[in-house]
Amino acid sequence: MIEETPLHKNETLKAESRQLRGSLADELKNGETFFSEDSCQLLKFHGSYQQEDRDNRKNKDKSAGKAFSCMIRTAVPGGRVTAAQFLGELDICDALGNGTLRLTTRQAFQHHGILKKDLREAIQEINKIKLTSLSACGDVNRNVMSTPAPIKNNRVLDDMQADCEALSAHLKPRSTAYYEVWLKDDTTGEETLAHEFKPAEEPIYGNTYLPRKFKIAFTLPEDNHTDVYTQDLGFIAIVEAGKLIGYNVTVGGGMGRTPSSAKTFPRLADKLCYIPSDQVLPVSEAIVKVQRDFGNRTDRKVARMKYLIADWGIEKFKAKVEEYYGQKLATPNAIDVTGVEDYMGWHEQGDGKLYLGINIENGRIKDEGDLRIKTGLRAIISKYNMESRLTALQSLILCDIDPKDKADIDATLKAHGIKACEDWTLMRRYSIACPALPLCGLSVTESERVMPQMMELLEAEAAKYGLVNDKITVHMTGCPNGCARPYTPDIGLVGRAVGKYTVFLGGNPEGTRLGFIFKDMVKFEDVPTMMSPLFAAYKQERTSTESFGDYCARKGLEELGKIADIHS
Ligand code: SF4
Repeated sequence: MIEETPLHKNETLKAESRQLRGSLADELKNGETFFSEDSCQLLKFHGSYQQEDRDNRKNKDKSAGKAFSCMIRTAVPGGRVTAAQFLGELDICDALGNGTLRLTTRQAFQHHGILKKDLREAIQEINKIKLTSLSACGDVNRNVMSTPAPIKNNRVLDDMQADCEALSAHLKPRSTAYYEVWLKDDTTGEETLAHEFKPAEEPIYGNTYLPRKFKIAFTLPEDNHTDVYTQDLGFIAIVEAGKLIGYNVTVGGGMGRTPSSAKTFPRLADKLCYIPSDQVLPVSEAIVKVQRDFGNRTDRKVARMKYLIADWGIEKFKAKVEEYYGQKLATPNAIDVTGVEDYMGWHEQGDGKLYLGINIENGRIKDEGDLRIKTGLRAIISKYNMESRLTALQSLILCDIDPKDKADIDATLKAHGIKACEDWTLMRRYSIACPALPLCGLSVTESERVMPQMMELLEAEAAKYGLVNDKITVHMTGCPNGCARPYTPDIGLVGRAVGKYTVFLGGNPEGTRLGFIFKDMVKFEDVPTMMSPLFAAYKQERTSTESFGDYCARKGLEELGKIADIHS
């Protein structure tokens, strides 16, 4: 008799949660500073992670116990927010969070340091500005990304954004748990958003939702800003005569790996098919349902859709999607991604007005000493009431600026210590880092807090060879889960142990190639010196259009090892 592998315990938890309710509502009233383990799992579907300040563990006085707080994430499809929404998010971080607002690598907002007693209010405030944290985390589709290009009167961009928003709405859980737990008005007794549990139809997810998280992005071929090949599901726009006619659909990308487990790996997506743009919802739904029904529910390490596709092969996967979709899918056409933009600095936006891309280092909007990003942005956005866009590189684009206001905005930025685009190197503009310590429970070492120092050291080495304004992309994470997509840039730095990183080389800024492990367990302070001879050799030996990642991929591990004198 063949023994069946038991389902992962999270599957039972989801099934018994009464569509994501569990005991969340009761635990909100129990006076404790933390949620139970089961509630922490369900909390993710509502957009929040419970975290613990790991710096606090170093305190000698242990009597206060663990310092728990919550991260809450706001989903922002395509990263587009109004002035009121941006200012509202700033207010929430001041009133309820740790006074900083984080722009994520998926065009979302993140608040950290929200105490359990304040979580309900934070979620209510997010909803008051017509945003939501629902399904910003958890085993469901998360924030849908799209190009933040702020060009006006551009039908292609507008249509892509409309598809992005429609898909985001279509893949939201239908459970009313979120509204009951967080949005019921206890003071007035207002019950319109709160009802007793009545099972809602979950026609896409069913009652156990997906086996694992699911990520989607739309992109333009000439600008793979959203790193489409790292996503579970991607859409590359096909444009003819200035009109969006459809998409090449990609499936099976994903970044996480567990170094000790050979069955896990980062993977770039495969091209699945071409679809006309009016088929985005039904084809996506079919793909999500295939993952729902065939994704691994016994082992969460290999539960992402990339493992299903790696196991089945793309043809078998496509046949199953066709079965769910009810029609044959067309072969993808030859169009692929070719470039990447970051939209930093001043530019015309196509209607006589300007946009301004502001590099926010590692996405952290804060006031610290002379650098007062939060106050400066608040002053500009409240004065000019402009729309803004969150980028996948953790930065911000202010839109709809009258040219006559440019000087005032520049002066305001300067007065708050916020650097102009020209004051950043290209390397720094394209660098990103995940939050890691002190709050991420999975981090094994620092990322965001040490990234500025790492970049300074790398810039110094690159400057020796005149490379500092080359587009050499560097992504850092505090663990191999890869939230800052460290396996596709020119240089990936992945936390492996305290103060030590795995160095990946050979990816590219366009995100079309995975890097390879150049060296494991490199001490933080040794990374720049190790890179120095590689920068020197690249400068001397590169072909005219070759990027640093292309050069590393061409040379390969052994040759690069000899240049850096590390593998002997
Ligand atoms: Fe945390 Fe790891 Fe993600 Fe960084 S990559 S935020 S350390 S889980």
